[in-house]
Amino acid sequence: MKASCAAEGYVGAGVSSRLAAVRMGLKRPLIFLGPPGAGKGTQAKLLSERYDVPHLSTGDMLREHVSTGTELGRKAKPIMDRGGLVPDDIVLGMVEERISRPDCAEGFVFDGFPRTMPQAQRLDEILAKRKFSKPVVVNFRVDDDVLIRRVAGRRVCSVGGEIYNIYERPPRDDSRCDNDGGALIQRSDDRAEVVRDRLAAFERQTRPLIDYYRSTGDLAEVDGSASVEVVSKKLLEILAEHGADGNRA
Ligand code: AMP
Repeated sequence: MKASCAAEGYVGAGVSSRLAAVRMGLKRPLIFLGPPGAGKGTQAKLLSERYDVPHLSTGDMLREHVSTGTELGRKAKPIMDRGGLVPDDIVLGMVEERISRPDCAEGFVFDGFPRTMPQAQRLDEILAKRKFSKPVVVNFRVDDDVLIRRVAGRRVCSVGGEIYNIYERPPRDDSRCDNDGGALIQRSDDRAEVVRDRLAAFERQTRPLIDYYRSTGDLAEVDGSASVEVVSKKLLEILAEHGADGNRA
């Protein structure tokens, strides 16, 4: 497991760390929908640690390709820099390969995927083909003014990936991670001018997925403007209600 970010104050963090040795798994894959800054990444990381399943952030995977200079990364970079969405075939290929690895057998948490209708429809086919259960989809609702403040204040540890917010969850030292002392960086696409384009991409291409998953009966909603602890607690309730919690039959 990565450097711990079992965030202080995370509901049940003590229980979670005592259970960490027991592989709990998730009975249904999880999908988090919501605009940038809604808290999907923070919650996906916490749940993936609690259930000991992979946190699959397509944004992180793409940034990895960009930083290692792969062909895929070279194609994706200019699109990401202007806040647009990377073509579906690129993202789908990356995701299908990732979930075919053995560590995904006990479930996984998607963060930032799917983001378009073709991605959602193709994902249904991939999950069925690979005999995964139907996913539980959680929509994070947050007002735009909160989102912009959150994204502008976001800083990410360059070593362990811990996420801070200079307004809401500041590190002890302005420029260093509390866990491992890694340098804290601002993502280039978190600058205000790019955030507006990312929000526009969400409205245009991702919002229709909310109705899609509502129509299949798999959608739950959380108020993403609530605190990390409150949202975490609500998510655990949703998982239990939807039969996704591997620990509770
Ligand atoms: P994120 O870290 O989820 O905010 O993603 C950062 C950027 O990566 C996005 O603004 C897109 O350019 C790209 N990206 C991430 N996930 C997807 C996806 N599922 N489909 C298309 N582009 C994506």
